[in-house]
Amino acid sequence: MQNINILCECPCGAIKFYLKKPPLIRFHCHCKICQKLYNSAYNDVVVIQSKNVLLGQNEVEFNKYRRPPALDRGICVQCKSPVIGFLRGIPGLGLAFINVNNIQDKSSLEGPLGHIFYHRKKEHIVDELPKFKGYWKSQIKLCHWIIIKLLAS
Ligand SMILES: [Zn+2]
Ligand SMILES: [Zn+2]
Repeated sequence: MQNINILCECPCGAIKFYLKKPPLIRFHCHCKICQKLYNSAYNDVVVIQSKNVLLGQNEVEFNKYRRPPALDRGICVQCKSPVIGFLRGIPGLGLAFINVNNIQDKSSLEGPLGHIFYHRKKEHIVDELPKFKGYWKSQIKLCHWIIIKLLAS
């Protein structure tokens, strides 16, 4: 099995961590939490299994923003930027969410699958990607994307 170790960093560089595999999926999230955390119209984000993340002994503060499902969002103690989020609600399956800007080598990333929480959009996005509106439609689509990839891996 190839060992690739993709380097990830927070904007100030104080937090460094690695991905042992390329992420499962990438998508654009327009939810209010992402808009607030990233101070932008949407979050360009990837999902990877937590077991494939090497976070190490970094100074990351974790906050739970919303439940269910509870996503522990890690913030860099120094630059206060979001570093990584962990979803621990599903037994036996830990998932990590990482903003694409924190991934140094983007060559291993696939294109985004679509936009979710698009009913919360701050601006219209003109692209070919599918757009999903509504809380449950967005959640179900996200689960669907992840399950398809997990079954194929
Ligand atoms: Zn979001
Ligand atoms: Zn930082």
